[in-house]
Amino acid sequence: MREPSVQPRVIIIGGGFGGLYAAKALASHPVAVTLIDRKNHHTFQPLLYQVALSVLSPGEIASPLRRILRRAHNIRVILGEVISFDTQARRVLLRDTSSLPYDYLIVAAGARHDYFGNDEWEAAAPGLKTIEDAVQIRRQLLLAFECAERTAILTGHRKPPTFAVIGGGPTGVELAGAIADLARLVLAKDFKTIDTRKARVLLFEGASRVLFTYTKQSSRRAAEQLSELGVEVHVDSRVTAVEPGRIRVKDAWIPVDVALWATGVAASPLGRALGVETDPAGRVKIEADLSVPGHPEIFVIGDMATLVDDTGRQVPGLAAAATQQGQTAAQNVLCDLRGAKRKRYRYHDRGIMATIGHYRAVAQFGSREFSGIFAWLLWSLVHVFLLIGFRNRVTVMAQWIWAFLTNSGSSPLITEYQSPDAENADPPATPSELA
Ligand SMILES: Cc1cc2nc3c(=O)[nH]c(=O)nc-3n(C[C@H](O)[C@H](O)[C@H](O)COP(=O)(O)OP(=O)(O)OC[C@H]3O[C@@H](n4cnc5c(N)ncnc54)[C@H](O)[C@@H]3O)c2cc1C
Repeated sequence: MREPSVQPRVIIIGGGFGGLYAAKALASHPVAVTLIDRKNHHTFQPLLYQVALSVLSPGEIASPLRRILRRAHNIRVILGEVISFDTQARRVLLRDTSSLPYDYLIVAAGARHDYFGNDEWEAAAPGLKTIEDAVQIRRQLLLAFECAERTAILTGHRKPPTFAVIGGGPTGVELAGAIADLARLVLAKDFKTIDTRKARVLLFEGASRVLFTYTKQSSRRAAEQLSELGVEVHVDSRVTAVEPGRIRVKDAWIPVDVALWATGVAASPLGRALGVETDPAGRVKIEADLSVPGHPEIFVIGDMATLVDDTGRQVPGLAAAATQQGQTAAQNVLCDLRGAKRKRYRYHDRGIMATIGHYRAVAQFGSREFSGIFAWLLWSLVHVFLLIGFRNRVTVMAQWIWAFLTNSGSSPLITEYQSPDAENADPPATPSELA
């Protein structure tokens, strides 16, 4: 292997869309790259909800970073959590108290959902961001049906569960539609005592329409398609409190078996740890070349950055933007090494789309809008095409075809569940059980 110390040292934090594409763009160039991530894998977040809904298995939407980058001889991967920086000494500090020097730093640590100062709500209404979140949500959803079936068998009281999705953006819309499909199509034949098709799926959005960043027409079509699936869509309905088993909407408490959080953006705390200007969501305000003001050697990209590009447009928090920014940040490092002028980042809009259960979706490409099955086919092709690794593309496509032909999920498994006979292991009674 080449001696790393004689080459400029580039540290990339985060192997998500931004960091991974920065690393790929630096592969085989005369720089010594170290990619640090607290997970050992890249997660294809747009398909996370399919893991949560048992359509796909975790391995089908995630790939080990080492494997993705194994042919890049100038890139090393470290499994570790970055907690801070010494920007004067140009060092990155890890949780295990070790530190690493850099000449260039690319920070792409992403964002999480924002609970608007009520972090305690997370336990009762988890968000979907990681594979672990998806597996945990899958467990909660399936357990709710199991509890309802058990109660029905033991007491004769048949009440299918109630689910609440908080936030009507793309993630909330996708989750609500997919839960409705799980209840209507996937589980209906497996449960003999409760009628899973009667499960209630409630979607709460504080704004006046779902998919607020889409056109009004796409929003309306999304709401219509959700209603066709039986999802009860509530707009202008801000959730003001969350407790285990119930949520408060405006002034009324609503009992729910499972609540899921799908709103708000809180950038990685690493943005504030850089000691530079951030917006209220903690996103770092960056320059057009994606560097941090006063620190041309530090780039911040993806969900943890905020930028209005040369077209006057706010760069959206999307995988496409993070990917493009990763490539531009890498190119700007290489421009410096060649003595060339840096590039100014400009967002290339590849369109936006959200799927709403089987065969339903909305898609916008510039001024063109689609909905229904055509939009869903577009969504499927784009997402499979973008999946990391050929093996995943083939298996995911096969899995989808099977799931859609048979209306079955690939892995409706509850893991980490102990028998009710085990000490202290009985799952808590759900509101449906108590009603
Ligand atoms: C459920 C869901 C669905 C989505 N659907 C779509 C979609 O359909 N289309 C679309 O364009 N976008 C979608 N997005 C948004 C898209 O996934 C993000 O915009 C994109 O992932 C941002 O990339 P990033 O590199 O900034 O961050 P991420 O992809 O989140 O990557 C951040 C990485 O940093 C690592 N990390 C974080 N903190 C540390 C630390 N302290 N130390 C070390 N490593 C750290 C994380 O482990 C992670 O690997 C979706 C997001 C979610 C959550």
